[in-house]
Amino acid sequence: MAAEKFAFQAEVVQLLDLMIHSLYSNRDVFLRELISNASDACDRLRFEGLTHSDLLPDEPFAVNIHVDPEARSLSVSDNGIGMSREEVVHNIGTIAKSGTSEFLRSLSKSADPKISPELIGQFGVGFYASFMVADEVSVVTRKAGEHEATRWSSSGDGSYEIEETERDAAGTTVSLKLKAAEGDDAIADYTDQWLLRQIVKRFSDFVAYPIHLKVEGADPPSSNEPLNSMKAIWRRPEEEVSEEEYAEFYKHIAHDWNEPLLHFSTRIEGNFEARALLYLPSLAPFDLYHREMAHRGIQLYVKRVFIMDECRELMPEYLRFAKGVVDAEDLSLNVSREMLQQSAQIEVIRKHLVKKTLEALKELKESDREKYRGFWAQFGPVIKEGLLDLSQKRERILELVLCESTAAGSGSTSLAEAVSRMPEDREVIYYLTGPSREHLVNSPHVEAFVERNIEVLLFTDHVDEIWLEQNPPEFAGKKFQSVLKGDIDLDDAADAGRDESKRAKDAEAFKPLLDALRTGVQDHVKEVRVSNRLTSSPACLVVDEGDLSHQISEMLRRSGQNVPHVKPILEINPAHPLLAKLKAVCDADAKDPRLADYATLLFGQAMLAEGGQLEDPAAFSRRIAELMLETL
Ligand code: ADP
Repeated sequence: MAAEKFAFQAEVVQLLDLMIHSLYSNRDVFLRELISNASDACDRLRFEGLTHSDLLPDEPFAVNIHVDPEARSLSVSDNGIGMSREEVVHNIGTIAKSGTSEFLRSLSKSADPKISPELIGQFGVGFYASFMVADEVSVVTRKAGEHEATRWSSSGDGSYEIEETERDAAGTTVSLKLKAAEGDDAIADYTDQWLLRQIVKRFSDFVAYPIHLKVEGADPPSSNEPLNSMKAIWRRPEEEVSEEEYAEFYKHIAHDWNEPLLHFSTRIEGNFEARALLYLPSLAPFDLYHREMAHRGIQLYVKRVFIMDECRELMPEYLRFAKGVVDAEDLSLNVSREMLQQSAQIEVIRKHLVKKTLEALKELKESDREKYRGFWAQFGPVIKEGLLDLSQKRERILELVLCESTAAGSGSTSLAEAVSRMPEDREVIYYLTGPSREHLVNSPHVEAFVERNIEVLLFTDHVDEIWLEQNPPEFAGKKFQSVLKGDIDLDDAADAGRDESKRAKDAEAFKPLLDALRTGVQDHVKEVRVSNRLTSSPACLVVDEGDLSHQISEMLRRSGQNVPHVKPILEINPAHPLLAKLKAVCDADAKDPRLADYATLLFGQAMLAEGGQLEDPAAFSRRIAELMLETL
């Protein structure tokens, strides 16, 4: 059958383009990617072989690198699971990860024409890295259990060809026609056996299958000794393993090109045994918030035998970015995903991993705040998802939280630090949620708190609205109290006493004005009342204790939920000169039509001050223009 020509998915073309033009600083990684794929393919077939032994190869699993310096060719073959024709088209002509196109679009729009390798590395370019060193790439593959083989080839220029071919046994061979090792655009000489040995040792030493090298025409002929030690890194004594080896192993299992943030090893001993080597990434994967995120997460081994990757049962969702290996001694080799869900051992391992991960993070937070801050900026919102899960030990998650605060200058604070700054008898932690720090520090709601030196914590992630509003946890015995909810009683007893009587007097004196304003905005607000939380703003909106805040109602509504419309309360500042003037107008004529107009304006600007949206912005700006005209 003749070769058929296909066009690459647009995203692949974009990715190839970005890679070829921006990732030339470390081209050696192409080999790591090919070996990783080959080793994954052997893992998969070995796993299949547990239940279908007829699929297993006659020869032991191995990865073979074959180079021909004359022909400038390099190939990597494996006797792993192989691919069917459909799988080749799907796996190698398209990128099936959700969010890919947004991600690539944002990369190619970025001002810097040289995209940083970290960014692309986050994406895990894998197989396509071959095009950094080759003018032409071909793949010959045969799926275990099938007879026909498929040949895929491309010169990375937008299209690829597919044709039927033959292959002696199941497995995959990826062959590269290397670019010139001399000249302007020269690459390293990847047919040089010393260079290849070095690269394999550096990036792939721990691969569980022997990696053999054959150099065509080599003198002396290349030896049969594998290039790698094949030692399972998590079984080696920690002091023997270098940081670089740990980092390379991370890149292998996580398909991340960046250095990990930290790693730790842990053991479970007792009724059964397991050990784990876990990593936390330094940069969030681009699809962290996509539901179908690749979620390579944790790999499960039983007595050194790879069982499966993406073992979701071993980590809760809110720690889905953790990577690593769990090697259990006593699980059955035939364990299936369904069995995992009910396994009591898996449950014990999972609890252990969660505990250790949270401890490792707490330690980082205490030992290196700067580094932790960087981590929190990337992954904090995901970790806070854990606060929505009432079955978790939420206190341990709260210990990791960093947030902005009215007290901490421009830096962020932990909850424990905030509590340590509070007078002992204060029972609540005041907070406000909103889109950004700038937004919140200038909010009318925090004015009175700032003036009295009462710290307000500022939470700026979407998820904060949810965990703080629905089933808020307590921290160190203190409740969380939103500054925009209910009738705030500002702690200081003496102060509060004075305020209460003043407020009662103000309420009395302002009653006619409150009534007049209410008439103007009764469709929008529940009540108009005198505030004791404002100092320099004329008005603000608050909600009753049990009501949902404006932001969260809006958020829920956007996500398609049916949320009853709760009217806010308009609080006015009796000490503000604007209200003194309005009071004078009202005292002269309580029916003055300007009062209703001003009520709408006060309501509108209070809404804008908290980042809300006006129902009729055109009418609002028309009124402002009229007012400006009058006062000129
Ligand atoms: P990634 O490995 O990050 O998923 P790649 O671009 O390297 O991305 O590979 C895409 C897919 O192609 C792999 O997930 C795998 O399914 C398939 N694949 C690549 N190489 C091999 C191989 N040697 N044997 C079997 N399948 C392979």
